[in-house]
Amino acid sequence: MRSSSVVQAILDVLGDKDTHLTSREIFDCIHERLPAVNPSTVYRALERLTQEGVVSISDLGIGSMVYELVTGKNHHHLVCQQCRSIVTIEGQEIDLFFSNIQAASGYRLVTNHLVLFGVCPACRQKMLENKAA
Ligand SMILES: [Zn+2]
Ligand SMILES: [Zn+2]
Repeated sequence: MRSSSVVQAILDVLGDKDTHLTSREIFDCIHERLPAVNPSTVYRALERLTQEGVVSISDLGIGSMVYELVTGKNHHHLVCQQCRSIVTIEGQEIDLFFSNIQAASGYRLVTNHLVLFGVCPACRQKMLENKAA
C-alpha cells in the first residue's frame, strides 16, 4: 500500500464530509475503499498532514481528537455537553472579536479555532421537560 494513496484517501474523506472526524472514523471510511490499509498507516499519514498544516487537529471534548481539512477560512464550534453534537459557526463577529483582542493586547493570535461548550436547544428542551415532569 503506497502511502500517497492513503493520503489522497484521507483528503477525500475529510473533504467529502466537510467536518471533523476522529482517526478511528477516518480509518473506517478509508478501510471501505482500501481494505489493505491498517490503522497505523492512516495514523502516520494524519500525523504528517497535521505537521504540514494541511489538516488540523483539535480537541472538541468528545473523547478523541478530531481532524479536519484546513481551508483557510476560520470557523469555530459549539459543542453540546449533553449529546456531544457539534455545530460549526463562522462569522464576522468572531473575526472582529479576534482583531479587537489583537489591537488591545498587541498579541498576534495563533488560535483560530474556538470550541465553546454548552447545551444545545434539543437538550435544553429535554431538560425543561424533565423538570416539568
Ligand atoms: Zn473545526
Ligand atoms: Zn445536545
